[in-house]
Amino acid sequence: MKKNHGKIGQIMQVLCTLPLLVLGCVILLMTYWQSAKLLRQEIQNELKTANYMLCSTFNSMYPGDYSLSQKGEGLSLQKGRIDITTEYDLFDSFKEMTGYEVALYYEDTLILSTIQDKQEQRLVGIGANARVMEDVVSSATPAFYDKVLINRSEYYAYYAPLSNMDGSIVGMLMVGRPCAQVIEVITNNLYPFLAVIILFLLLSSLLIFLYTRRFHQVIDKLQSFLKEVSGGNLNAVLSPSVTRRNDEFGVIGRSVVSMQDSLRHMLELDALTRLFNRHFGNRKLAQVIQKNEEAGTCFALAIGDIDFFKKVNDTYGHDAGDVILQNVANVLRDSMLTNGFVVRWGGEEFLLVFDKMNMYQAADELEKILDKVRAMETVYEEQTIKVTMTFGIAESHGQSQNELIKEADEKLYHGKQGGRNRVVV
Ligand code: GH3
Ligand code: MG
Ligand code: MG
Repeated sequence: MKKNHGKIGQIMQVLCTLPLLVLGCVILLMTYWQSAKLLRQEIQNELKTANYMLCSTFNSMYPGDYSLSQKGEGLSLQKGRIDITTEYDLFDSFKEMTGYEVALYYEDTLILSTIQDKQEQRLVGIGANARVMEDVVSSATPAFYDKVLINRSEYYAYYAPLSNMDGSIVGMLMVGRPCAQVIEVITNNLYPFLAVIILFLLLSSLLIFLYTRRFHQVIDKLQSFLKEVSGGNLNAVLSPSVTRRNDEFGVIGRSVVSMQDSLRHMLELDALTRLFNRHFGNRKLAQVIQKNEEAGTCFALAIGDIDFFKKVNDTYGHDAGDVILQNVANVLRDSMLTNGFVVRWGGEEFLLVFDKMNMYQAADELEKILDKVRAMETVYEEQTIKVTMTFGIAESHGQSQNELIKEADEKLYHGKQGGRNRVVV
């Protein structure tokens, strides 16, 4: 049989995992967005403080105004009387301490920088971003950016304007941090979250899988049981692992088993006496004949008939007759419990099968049974009714089912002829 997870299992798996997956993604995105926002604020404050401190230190190390002067073939930037064009000690140790890049612009040209290009050469001589120039130099206002492109890399950068003693703005100082570095920090922080979410998804998937697999096993058992019953096997057994469950499947299991019982009773039992009906009795008798034939053993059967039952009906009414039939049936059933089985063969006729006795043993038993019937008193509408029965016995010696019954019937006839209320062997 194809072993799969079943349709219900698959739907449950999707229904339970999908919302969890969406929730996981939402949490992840929100965490990323929130951390990026907080980090941006933090970086802005840090860069601002760093820029301010660097500026102060730079000013106190190199007091005086900025000025450009001719040096050999090129230009050099002076601060006070010192040529700062190659003064990198402060900026480099600042970078070493903080990890931040520094860039000093005179007017719109990058003069001093810790940023290196691909050849590990300091990035100098390039022009400043026009928008930054506008915001910082022209407006004489510090500004923070979370995406400034310097030498094809993006930076979080804080720019502060540089001024001379007379207040004129001559350039700007940038302290920055590569965006890639910050994103790496955020992503590293998110990895544990991601791992937890994946772990939860896997765990829930596993639990759902195990749970639905158990469901599927139960459904499987119910399915094959119902298949057998609908195919006519009213003796099919539903596993107790289903009927003992105390959930809805247990209720369904118990219901179908009792449905099977009702169906079997309807098909096998006589409605008035609850004894086996003639159709089912015939089938059971055929089994007994076959079993004894195979084993080479013999057994006995008897047909019993209530004497003068028409008279009983005529005297006490049909309903009283019904009650007597039920009482007689109960006596026969109780007496046959250990001997074999009893069938309501016709109106007031019964077939009794003694499946492990010869006809003499059966006769002894029948005498006892007849005594019980004789002693039986049916009280109906304050009248006490008593009945007798006549039995004819036959023993199996390889005869056919019909021959066997015919023999018993003939003995019964003789009993009736001989005066009734007797057992005829
Ligand atoms: P005998 O001793 O020769 O067997 O006489 P009898 O009157 O019992 O036999 P007969 O065959 O003449 O009558 C059988 C009666 O049993 C007739 C019928 O109305 C009655 N009978 C058959 N089935 C039922 C039943 O289900 N309920 C009732 N109340 N009577 C039934
Ligand atoms: Mg009869
Ligand atoms: Mg009769």
